[in-house]
Amino acid sequence: MKILIIEDDLQMQRFLQVLLRGHNYEVVTVMTAQEGLIKTAEINPDIILLDLGLPDMDGLDFVSTVREWSSVTVIVLSARDQENDKIKALDNGADDYLTKPFGSGELLARIRVALRHSQSQNGSDVKRLESKDLTIDFSQRLIWCQDQLVHLTPTEYRILQLLANNGGKVLTYRQILEHIWGKNFIEHNHYVRVHMAQLRQKIEVNPTRPCFLLTEVGVGYRFQFEPIEP
Ligand code: CA
Repeated sequence: MKILIIEDDLQMQRFLQVLLRGHNYEVVTVMTAQEGLIKTAEINPDIILLDLGLPDMDGLDFVSTVREWSSVTVIVLSARDQENDKIKALDNGADDYLTKPFGSGELLARIRVALRHSQSQNGSDVKRLESKDLTIDFSQRLIWCQDQLVHLTPTEYRILQLLANNGGKVLTYRQILEHIWGKNFIEHNHYVRVHMAQLRQKIEVNPTRPCFLLTEVGVGYRFQFEPIEP
């Protein structure tokens, strides 16, 4: 697995390199967005770790540029003062983000999820998900929470399907709104909140402590699913 690191902070670069090489990832590091674009084309990495504050180009512009010709997984590394840019980066097509400082365990977990997602995806949608407390059969549109059949409204169902098809990946309010309600509704964050609360009531064992529909505070939602191993 090849990981391209685009980061101008040398200390952070070194930390990432040592960590990822230690876990048998092949690592290439560059300091600028320009070099990042060249390397992306050259080595076709499985994952890009992208610092948002780069010397030569906004990380946001990097994401839009790379998305014109590549579907490579992009995980954004943002500092606290780049919170808004982080959301824009996701809207522009980044797959996930981590806010600095983050732990090595967290980063490795995100990389594993991203790789699993990009390998299982290949354009096909999720058909069936099965875990201890939740089973979803998308081909029959049937959902069971703790063996009880659950009835969802069409909108709730579409949101769940959208999140499941992007399993593990954070979706911004804007992405959910645009996909479910359309471009004219991208300001209506409360639509998403209301429906998400209803969905949690129906599919979470404990809706106040959700384990499937996770909130990314100020950003959006992520669907987490640990399937039963066959
Ligand atoms: Ca930087």
